[in-house]
Amino acid sequence: MATFCRACGIEVDSRAVICPSCGVAQHARPDQARPVLALVLNLLLPGVGTILLGQVSIGVLQLVLQVVAWVLDFTVILTPFGIVLGFSVWVWALVISIRAFSAGRRAA
Ligand SMILES: [Zn+2]
Repeated sequence: MATFCRACGIEVDSRAVICPSCGVAQHARPDQARPVLALVLNLLLPGVGTILLGQVSIGVLQLVLQVVAWVLDFTVILTPFGIVLGFSVWVWALVISIRAFSAGRRAA
């Protein structure tokens, strides 16, 4: 029987001790408050919630891309690129948060 990683949401073998994708331990009871907080944080500032979920490198990348998007927004000429980039990072962070949240719900 397969379960889902409580951190990244990927499908893992139910006997797995750690997630092969993100390395988070699987057998501790999922903490429902953390994914909810991560979702709210990622809505406000993409990347912060991702870092909270333990995906630090992805979270930092999202924060950096978000800052780049803001800079592009201020250049006027490149503003459309900034808007597209900012929106893409926001959706990306949101998807990670929702996957973590639903993985926690399934495991609970
Ligand atoms: Zn994982």
